[in-house]
Amino acid sequence: MTALSPEPSLDAAAPFDLVILGAGCAGLALAARLARSDADLRVAVIDPRTEHGDDRSWSFWHHDHHALRSIVAHEWSGWTYRGLDGRAATHRVPGVTYQYIRGIDFYRWALDAIATDPRITLQLGVGAHELAAVTLDDGDDGVRVMTDAGPVLARRVVDTRPQRTRALLYQCFSGVEIEHGGRLATDTDASDADAVGLMTRMRSGAEGLGFLYVLPLSPTRALVEWTRFSPAPLPLDEVAAERDAELGALGLGDAVVVREEQGILPMGRVDAPPSPVAGVALAGNAGGALRDASGYAFLRIQRWAMRCAAALARGEAPPAHPREPWVRRQMDRIFLQALRAHPERSADYFLAMATRVAPRRLLRFLTDRATLGDLVAIIASLPLTPFLAQLPDRRERLVAAASAARRQRVER
Ligand SMILES: Cc1cc2nc3c(=O)[nH]c(=O)nc-3n(C[C@H](O)[C@H](O)[C@H](O)COP(=O)(O)OP(=O)(O)OC[C@H]3O[C@@H](n4cnc5c(N)ncnc54)[C@H](O)[C@@H]3O)c2cc1C
Repeated sequence: MTALSPEPSLDAAAPFDLVILGAGCAGLALAARLARSDADLRVAVIDPRTEHGDDRSWSFWHHDHHALRSIVAHEWSGWTYRGLDGRAATHRVPGVTYQYIRGIDFYRWALDAIATDPRITLQLGVGAHELAAVTLDDGDDGVRVMTDAGPVLARRVVDTRPQRTRALLYQCFSGVEIEHGGRLATDTDASDADAVGLMTRMRSGAEGLGFLYVLPLSPTRALVEWTRFSPAPLPLDEVAAERDAELGALGLGDAVVVREEQGILPMGRVDAPPSPVAGVALAGNAGGALRDASGYAFLRIQRWAMRCAAALARGEAPPAHPREPWVRRQMDRIFLQALRAHPERSADYFLAMATRVAPRRLLRFLTDRATLGDLVAIIASLPLTPFLAQLPDRRERLVAAASAARRQRVER
């Protein structure tokens, strides 16, 4: 655990140039980028947690060179999709690996950077509550942040506090890092230490999709997460019990648990994000960082943090996460709505994409870089009727059906 002073040390007399609410992924990423930049700002980061433990891990696809390369703990050249019925595809794309960063390593990377900058105050053990727009003593606009340690004034605020939000589906998962003594093959029925089980033992029923996410960390150790896509958030103890049943079915009920991680990620936010108080920017998951169709956010948060630090260094307001392009938003929504309308077919949809779409195309879709050709290939891999039914009106359905028919003629 990396613990920092839980004692309040916020100097509330003078306004901070920036107050960051939340010292999680987004808050720390921004503070670390500011510490490494030439921004001359007085910054406070506030979080009620009292320490940073190994509470989660982040994975993503990336090529070899990037700013966080030194803290990547593992990488794999392949990722497998496998149904419980045996249908399977392992994808590999030259030049790209699936990379894994442990939470504790990311936190240390950020905390070390922050510690080098005396202008950044990290205040743990203090939660923020109400925010209000105020006029500062010098006549500038500012924000008053009510905290457990009293009011704090800021010229600007970045708010990454988790928010409850309604969504089309919820990705509910419960994972354990286990010592299994070599009894767990990577994708649970084939041995390929250079591939993760991205969605393995996948099956679906009236209650939705379920699959195991398996990251082999060594010949004897793995992160194994049981994941459910559900129209409502599931109690996490229920998800953990299902995970244990899966481990039991694999003969791993007695594996030694090294650490746990769990979460519920909203997929396809239904509510419009709340309008923040003037001077406040929402960021991280609360600011729309999660990709609707996948629940991946880590790299999107890192890109935003770099842009945000650069904007602040230029004296500009902190930017929001970029709005999802219309086409991607529609694709993700239609896909999620089809999963919601036909939960029993969810595994078929994922396996159809995995077995019929070229790995490079599917990867571009998953990493926010899909071309029109990729989208067409993905649509063509899926059964048309359930997806057309999700289009909002009849005219759009007719236009889509006509263009699908045209496309099929061209492909023939
Ligand atoms: C277990 C888990 C695994 C994940 N794995 C991946 C992955 O592999 N790849 C990927 O791309 N994405 C992943 N995600 C999704 C996403 O990347 C993470 O949720 C990420 O941590 C989001 O960053 P954030 O800063 O928005 O939220 P968080 O990292 O959760 O930070 C929010 C912070 O706000 C603090 N806070 C709460 N209340 C207050 C308050 N009143 N005042 C001030 N601060 C407050 C919290 O203590 C916390 O530190 C995962 C999510 C989880 C939960």
